[in-house]
Amino acid sequence: MSQEIALSIIIPIYNEEGNIPLLFDRLNSVADQLGVTKEFIFINDGSKDNSIQLIRELSLRYNYIKYINFSRNFGHQIAVTAGLDYSSGKRVAIIDADLQDPPELIIEMYNKMNEGHEVVYAKRRVRDGETVFKKTTAKLFYRILKKITSVNIPVDTGDFRIVDRKIVDVLKNMPEQEKYLRGQIAWAGFRQTYVEYDRVERYSGKTGYTFSKMLKLALNGITSFSDFPLKFATISGFIVAGIAFLVTLYALYSRFVIKEYIAGWTSLMLCVLFIGGIQLITIGIIGEYISRVAANVRKRPLYIIDDTNIKSEDLN
Ligand code: UDP
Ligand code: MG
Repeated sequence: MSQEIALSIIIPIYNEEGNIPLLFDRLNSVADQLGVTKEFIFINDGSKDNSIQLIRELSLRYNYIKYINFSRNFGHQIAVTAGLDYSSGKRVAIIDADLQDPPELIIEMYNKMNEGHEVVYAKRRVRDGETVFKKTTAKLFYRILKKITSVNIPVDTGDFRIVDRKIVDVLKNMPEQEKYLRGQIAWAGFRQTYVEYDRVERYSGKTGYTFSKMLKLALNGITSFSDFPLKFATISGFIVAGIAFLVTLYALYSRFVIKEYIAGWTSLMLCVLFIGGIQLITIGIIGEYISRVAANVRKRPLYIIDDTNIKSEDLN
């Protein structure tokens, strides 16, 4: 490598043409204020707009602009993972392209690292410009996850953060297919701290996180860091079996002792539906875990790169 890079900034891009120019300016001024050697890594995650053209143009003008162009949309977590794989800075920042994460906060986070932290993440005080549905489900999800996992994953925190190269090396050795980076980073340990910020509205364009992408992220977070759903399946199985045993006793008692048998269509239906429901839920839960085991057994590459201007011999 010709020169040590102090700070890599990773920016996943999915249809962000309206944000790239301003984002680039603000990131530049952040890096200037910090006075560090830098690289910006844009990962184009199958955008359908002109994002990749804008990035390519920048990369021709400035040698610190790197890009990775995916063959299709692989999702935000995978895009960030690719950025981490191809980064070479001593410290690595992850930021959304839509300016919901204020680039200037990187200065504060960077300086906070000098106090001896390997991770400084940005915690949302408020979230603006997001639907009530998204805000409530996100809030609920972070709290449920915290309850059922043994890893201390910070609440109300996305992937906006700076991490030390040590963390990047840990992440590179975690080959799991389903990525929940904020969980993996929490799991890695080291000294972690946070700064708080107010999340503003997206500057331009619309969210790339559809409902199904959010659901996938949430399920990955839970299945990667908790066995609680499986335990729930077992426990509810025992409870239902217990109730069934009592009902059996009662049925035998009323048939042979008091010789009074009820027509009982309602109670029968309720039992069948209840037990059937519990069975479907538990089979579903087991299926979620098995599908993840299957994905990991297949060992497909996490992403496919169409083209990039990062040379593999430049990586450390
Ligand atoms: N993104 C991505 N791939 C996707 C969806 C989103 O790389 O499939 C990027 C997007 O360009 C942005 C970041 O991930 O830089 C966060 O996405 P978004 O702002 O759409 O999510 P939200 O803030 O609404 O949760
Ligand atoms: Mg956003």
